[in-house]
Amino acid sequence: MSVKYIESSKLPTPWGIFCMHGFVEETTDKEHLVLTYGDVGVKPDQPVLVRIHSECLTGDALFSLRCDCGAQLQAAMHKIAVEGAGAIFYLRQEGRGIGLINKIRAYKLQDCGLDTVEANEKLGFGADMRDYSMLKTMFEHVGIKSVKLMTNNPRKIKALQDAGITIAERRPHETGRNPHNSQYLETKKGKLGHLFGEE
Ligand SMILES: [Zn+2]
Repeated sequence: MSVKYIESSKLPTPWGIFCMHGFVEETTDKEHLVLTYGDVGVKPDQPVLVRIHSECLTGDALFSLRCDCGAQLQAAMHKIAVEGAGAIFYLRQEGRGIGLINKIRAYKLQDCGLDTVEANEKLGFGADMRDYSMLKTMFEHVGIKSVKLMTNNPRKIKALQDAGITIAERRPHETGRNPHNSQYLETKKGKLGHLFGEE
């Protein structure tokens, strides 16, 4: 997916002042962000603390406990501020790429007993429809070539390798488990290969 850089501005947050860089997909007009903190891209060989986060409106903005996204995003921003530098790639692909309304349909099926993968498949979607091909241009723009990646998701490691980024280190990123999402997290581990409980 080809993306074009548009503009940057400051983004003050409870964890510090990030710089927000906006990109637009040329064929779909879908908008994506990179939030950088501190000096990144100054020493290209120095690995930078990075999180790849796909939009989850319900978790990121509506405090949903059905998933762990909001807690993961907040923890990533906190860890980057503590580290003194880092970047969050915020990709607008809601509901593992199926969109917000379809996510509600999938949640409804889960209310009736299906797991997250079965629900997506019942709706005719793959278990994970996310596309990471926009990352190459976004990484080039902010000048990051090597990362310390905060993730439990092997697909994201592969996506960055495909984009030519060096994974100097993987940092497990487990947070936000609660009684409402523990089954969901077990499905991510069992069916989507997420690496929980390995540190
Ligand atoms: Zn979520």
